[in-house]
Amino acid sequence: MTAEETAGRPSAALRTEALEQLLVERGLIDPAVVDRLITTYETNIGPLNGAKVVAKAWTDPAYRERLLADGTAATKELGFGGPQGEHIVVVENSAKDHNVVVCTLCSCYPWPLLGLPPSWYKDPAYRARVVREPHKVLSEMGLDLDADVRITVRDSSSEVRWLVLPERPAGTESLSEEELVELVTRDAMVGVAKVAAP
Ligand code: FE
Repeated sequence: MTAEETAGRPSAALRTEALEQLLVERGLIDPAVVDRLITTYETNIGPLNGAKVVAKAWTDPAYRERLLADGTAATKELGFGGPQGEHIVVVENSAKDHNVVVCTLCSCYPWPLLGLPPSWYKDPAYRARVVREPHKVLSEMGLDLDADVRITVRDSSSEVRWLVLPERPAGTESLSEEELVELVTRDAMVGVAKVAAP
């Protein structure tokens, strides 16, 4: 949806609620089923899936290459796909190049890898400000990057859902893939944090 189409319309949340109510009233959907779907994405399909993708990319150079070349196919290799996971593009963070993800229009997010977006991701202030002043916004969120680090803001949409491959922290060379999974956080895969060494 373009900005023009969004302007003057009620918020997506409001429209979604109205639509759900209508469907429930007409007997077309069962609210319990909707709740179950939300719970599934909130608790069962959480950032752990994304963390497995990251840990595999850190330990398997060939997989890392496939992941950066075609995120959708490479994440499907590990069994992750489905709604909001159709067009995954993965970008790699390094000490000098940092990527951070936003959806400036709504809250597009790679559900199968990270679960449902946190509330700050949907906050109009984050969506507007991270584009204009990324260094400042990241610093407010606890990530202080040197002024010479190049930050690229990635705008997610229905066409592209960005996922950040965070930098593997120093001192983790001896850790197994399973141990590395534990270190990877949701915020690091959105690009508002780094992965810390244990
Ligand atoms: Fe969106």
